[in-house]
Amino acid sequence: MSATLTDGKVRAARLRETVANAADVLKREKGVEPGLAVVLVGEDSASQVYVASKVRLTKECGMRSIEHILPAETSQADLLALVQKLNADESVDGILVQMPLSDHIDSDAIVLAIDPAKDVDGLHPVNAGRIVLGKPGLVPCTPQGCVILVKEVMAEKTGGDLSGLDALVLGRSILVGKPMALLLQNENCTVTMAHSCTRNLEEACRRADIVVAAVGRPRMVKGDWLKPGACVIDVGINRIPAPEKGEGKTRLVGDVDFDSAVDVADSITPVPGGVGPMTIACLLANTIRAACKRRGFAVPDLG
Ligand code: NDP
Repeated sequence: MSATLTDGKVRAARLRETVANAADVLKREKGVEPGLAVVLVGEDSASQVYVASKVRLTKECGMRSIEHILPAETSQADLLALVQKLNADESVDGILVQMPLSDHIDSDAIVLAIDPAKDVDGLHPVNAGRIVLGKPGLVPCTPQGCVILVKEVMAEKTGGDLSGLDALVLGRSILVGKPMALLLQNENCTVTMAHSCTRNLEEACRRADIVVAAVGRPRMVKGDWLKPGACVIDVGINRIPAPEKGEGKTRLVGDVDFDSAVDVADSITPVPGGVGPMTIACLLANTIRAACKRRGFAVPDLG
């Protein structure tokens, strides 16, 4: 078997188009231009790249981007004051503080300070609680994107219905693993949540119709861990040495060993080009949702 590639770039472009249409309707019919505020503290190069993409794509979708680039030595008090200012600013619909923050800042305190109605990263406990309750809210972007991709894969087989499927989520972070497992449970999957203390991980993996790997360990999940025909979502982004490309060169790989998995799975997301593009598209979709909800408008179905 050679798995179908689940193309996150194409699906993300489609979602951004839906977001751009929704932004256009808001502007024409309600005179509202949704605004996303992005806060970057310090000069971490990966964070700078992520923030630049978020800013560019926000503008491309016809929304307003508000950027706050702060020096690395910014104090927690100053960052909290900025968050409060953005909370109070009526023209700001979404607030994203780029993580990770430096050690001198308590990121939990920053996340807690963000108005849950503007928490487009979906990390505030109020939004996390809404997932637990199975209520609509702002869902973290990466797991939200993964669910869209799984449903896309299952569209032909089950009409996108995931009921009764066995899913294994590898990793239990607040950002990815935990919300991912809850979202799949809310879709009526039977979910196993695996982590560093899980026994017989390979066996658990082999039972799963859907495998979501979010561990941060390059190529950890091997093809012979997978059930033939599984739907594989590889969240991992790991930079490894690539001497074949030249001295000192590197390349990105996922948490799944693509070369062996592709022979066993029915579908697999590539790295890069799988989950990554969906994350930003879902951030933009959350900004539309926040803009509508805050103003009492009906929230459009963004898929
Ligand atoms: P974390 O480091 O926060 O969590 C990793 C999880 O993996 C933990 O729950 C940990 O278990 C588990 N784990 C680690 N080692 C093992 C092991 N040997 N066996 C089983 N479980 C293990 O990572 P994140 O969730 O933030 O990110 C995971 C990956 O996803 C990273 O590669 C990251 O770069 C990528 N990522 C990609 C995004 C995208 O947009 N594509 C967005 C966010 C992340 P325990 O809890 O027991 O320690």
